[in-house]
Amino acid sequence: MIEISHLSKRYHATAAVDDATFTARPGRVTGFLGPNGAGKSTTLRILLGLSAATSGTATIDGRRYRDLEHPLRTVGALLDGAGAVPERRAVDHLRWVAQSNRIPRARVDEVLELVDLTGARRQRVRTFSLGMTQRLGIATALLGDPQVVVLDEPTNGLDPAGIRWIRTLLRDFAAQGRTVLVSSHQMAEMSDTVDDLVIIDRGRVVVRGTLDEVVAGHLSLEEAFFAALATGAAR
Ligand code: ADP
Repeated sequence: MIEISHLSKRYHATAAVDDATFTARPGRVTGFLGPNGAGKSTTLRILLGLSAATSGTATIDGRRYRDLEHPLRTVGALLDGAGAVPERRAVDHLRWVAQSNRIPRARVDEVLELVDLTGARRQRVRTFSLGMTQRLGIATALLGDPQVVVLDEPTNGLDPAGIRWIRTLLRDFAAQGRTVLVSSHQMAEMSDTVDDLVIIDRGRVVVRGTLDEVVAGHLSLEEAFFAALATGAAR
């Protein structure tokens, strides 16, 4: 389980995250939605130990990332720009990550199969399309077979087939009992994928609840989203 509690992050005058509190639970896909600049990446980077909070906590199974005994086996993450060395072959990239995290080498073939990159395993990363790069990132995140998966804008730049593939994958993870936290600024893409929602705007959580709770009284998730931004009211 992921727990964000009274989390704040300031960059000089900017409150990138402002007293955010929410959870993401096992067996559910939690959508972390908000416009560009809302504070989604900052929150996820703190959760993954890549940035320090100004105050508050972000934990996975009650522990901060840096206190996890086996980080890669606990949480798998796909972050923007966190990629592989372009000159490396896909399979070598995965072997390197596996080896440096003491993950059995056989797992590399499993994750390549899982993301449908077996045929491209010997290809250099620089020749990959955006969709393939995203899938390699997801394969890397899954190497340690983590129970918690965090993805920052995984559908960015993907074509409809790629988006559909990601959505199915997220649903499968949740069905396996994993905790899935996925950020997006595209409401329409998320409405039939998520169970729970957290909407953030200008660093503040403005809405959180189940999909049904959030959409209640609105025609669509998109409409609920814009209403939430307009009122800025927490539910
Ligand atoms: P999102 O992921 O929702 O698009 P971010 O978390 O990237 O939003 O950014 C939230 C706010 O914090 C924005 O105003 C952004 O400009 C600012 N910000 C993010 N990272 C930094 C940084 N390293 N230095 C200064 N400001 C930052």
